[in-house]
Amino acid sequence: MKDRLHRLVAQLSERELDAMLISAPENRRYLSGFTGSAGYLLLSAGNAVLVTDSRYTEQATGQAPDYQVMQVKGGWDWLMELLKENGIKRLGFESQHMTVATYNDLLDAVKGKEDLGQVSLVAASGITETLRITKDADELVSLQKAIDASDAAMAAVCPTIEEGMTERDVALRMETAMREFGSEGTSFDTIVAAGPNGAMAHHRPSDTSIRRGEPIVIDMGAQVGGYCSDITRTVVVGEPDETFRKIYDIVLGAQLTAISTVRAGMTGEECDGLSRTVISEAGYGDNFGHSLGHGVGLEVHENPRVGPKAANTLESGMVFTVEPGIYLSGWGGVRIEDIVILGEDGAKPLSKASK
Ligand code: ZN
Ligand code: ZN
Repeated sequence: MKDRLHRLVAQLSERELDAMLISAPENRRYLSGFTGSAGYLLLSAGNAVLVTDSRYTEQATGQAPDYQVMQVKGGWDWLMELLKENGIKRLGFESQHMTVATYNDLLDAVKGKEDLGQVSLVAASGITETLRITKDADELVSLQKAIDASDAAMAAVCPTIEEGMTERDVALRMETAMREFGSEGTSFDTIVAAGPNGAMAHHRPSDTSIRRGEPIVIDMGAQVGGYCSDITRTVVVGEPDETFRKIYDIVLGAQLTAISTVRAGMTGEECDGLSRTVISEAGYGDNFGHSLGHGVGLEVHENPRVGPKAANTLESGMVFTVEPGIYLSGWGGVRIEDIVILGEDGAKPLSKASK
């Protein structure tokens, strides 16, 4: 945690900020270790303060030993005190997270205090998100546990799927199994899309029954230590039709091509192109409408971006999904998704579930 804190504070001078107010829950957790649902961090060169309410003071003291923990009852008086004590004039805030209402409230508080002098609120988005983009050893341990839980659930539940079960039945079995294999909860709402429903990339599980021979897209994630997994498999009960065989081969080929040829130094757009080219050359470019992947960590969708317009460079140590898909209206879809970690010599898949 100390190392993360130092890396954040080092960013402050570069952005000419005296202090940074952290409000986004994942960033609060990343920088402090505190997992409670409410609180702020105020970080400056000399100080690390964690502010929360009475529900969480004891927990925060235990989880965030590098911080001075303050118990407050809401409002901004505590912040005005700290700004004054520490001579903070330029305060960064997380504009990607703070609501307009909270910002206006904070602005009023700052304006109302003559004794503070001129304090500027500076929109400073993405600082912690950028630190989070490469994963350290501790993070990789949790991430791998989450991935193993969803892999194990896929392996245990897929062979039990039968004709007549509903999408909802399958989702429930998967979620129960992920829990049994160590997941704290789901990292997002499980997607089970049978037959034509699979043509919608983010279909919600319904009472639609599973029928023999139809593709079933299952996209789900576990969570361990706050870290999210994200995996998609497309399966069939009984014998797949000719379309399935053809489409599945193209999607799998597109996925394996990207995993085996992506290199550190490529942009997210270039990585996306590795799979997109395979699908386009097979004649299905118009049926692959979403990005190839996304970063994953404390949030199921985070940086780096891996899509047609992603200019960010992919670097060694980054973790992201590779999930090409082909969607045919009236028939269904095929998507295959794995999480990989990028190294100097290329990408290594972290999930091992059968494809
Ligand atoms: Zn997914
Ligand atoms: Zn995904």
